[in-house]
Amino acid sequence: MDITALVSTLNDLKIEYLCDCPMSLYTSFKIGGPADVMLKPHNVEQLKTALSLCKEHNVPVFILGKGSNLLVSDDGIEGAVINISSGFDEIKLLNDTTVECGAGASLSALCNFCLEHGLSGLEFAFGIPGSVGGAVYMNAGAYGGEIKNVITSATYLTADGEECELPSDKLSLSYRKSKFSGNDDIILSAKFELKPDNADNIRERMNDFIGRRKDKQPLCFPSAGSTFKRPEGYYAGALIEGSGLKGFTVGGAQVSEKHAGFVINKGGATCKDVTDLMAHIVKTVKENYGVTLEAEVIKIGR
Ligand SMILES: Cc1cc2nc3c(=O)[nH]c(=O)nc-3n(C[C@H](O)[C@H](O)[C@H](O)COP(=O)(O)OP(=O)(O)OC[C@H]3O[C@@H](n4cnc5c(N)ncnc54)[C@H](O)[C@@H]3O)c2cc1C
Repeated sequence: MDITALVSTLNDLKIEYLCDCPMSLYTSFKIGGPADVMLKPHNVEQLKTALSLCKEHNVPVFILGKGSNLLVSDDGIEGAVINISSGFDEIKLLNDTTVECGAGASLSALCNFCLEHGLSGLEFAFGIPGSVGGAVYMNAGAYGGEIKNVITSATYLTADGEECELPSDKLSLSYRKSKFSGNDDIILSAKFELKPDNADNIRERMNDFIGRRKDKQPLCFPSAGSTFKRPEGYYAGALIEGSGLKGFTVGGAQVSEKHAGFVINKGGATCKDVTDLMAHIVKTVKENYGVTLEAEVIKIGR
């Protein structure tokens, strides 16, 4: 791995980058040590160049959306983090009911665009603090809706720099999973098929969902949303609360008193605090209910 050589070429090519970039500034958990380098390509050409340079200099790559489902190691990330949310945020109407959206756009921006154009179907995503790329990768969902129900296709870049497009039935979208989970493809954009509706109705549903989030979720504290996936037949939050773990704390990490499904950063939490707390939760819930909780939050880094 030769970061110095990579960085000197990036300078020549005018691709934006930051060395020793603190990941705590780029994650909703506000946790994480430095990435060796963060690259901020603003278009596909820069992205392709960045990828081939990383390959040439043996620098491993991690793709970052809005960092709202990540737990980054206190020792940071070896190699390059490619920040997709620094561009790729164009949203456009392709016809009366089809919207195309860049992977770096926030879900909230996409929802507001749909509201402006009287298009319904993505209201469930209003308030999920991720990017469109991250939402496709995770098949994000809430309140009975999920990306799978509205996406018609996605374009992506393979690790070899080939641009591809696949229809939704080839994206293997299931509960918090997609064909992109765990592979090197980079989602560039997605198309969504929506239904015309009155803007007042759409706004009312968006407000309703945001209101429910504010009522139930600990939005005043940094977190990565639901810490664990929903085990079949149960709710993770109910199992954790039933195990008496509401408010249980390790260092700066705490099981939220407001919603036991969330581990929050009460202040100064480290990745180790969260990891230790999660291990304690998994053990206790297993002892009490015989159910093995699986993390929804993705742990990355050294
Ligand atoms: C308060 C709060 C509430 C939340 N509520 C919900 C909810 O209701 N429903 C829900 O599903 N989630 C929820 N989340 C979790 C999170 O917002 C979603 O999982 C979101 O889809 C993650 O998007 P992101 O852009 O932040 O991705 P990141 O966290 O940056 O990345 C997540 C994964 O996606 C990959 N990735 C991101 N962009 C790309 C790309 N362009 N190409 C390839 N891979 C990519 C990353 O490499 C990583 O593996 C919540 C989080 C918080 C903090």
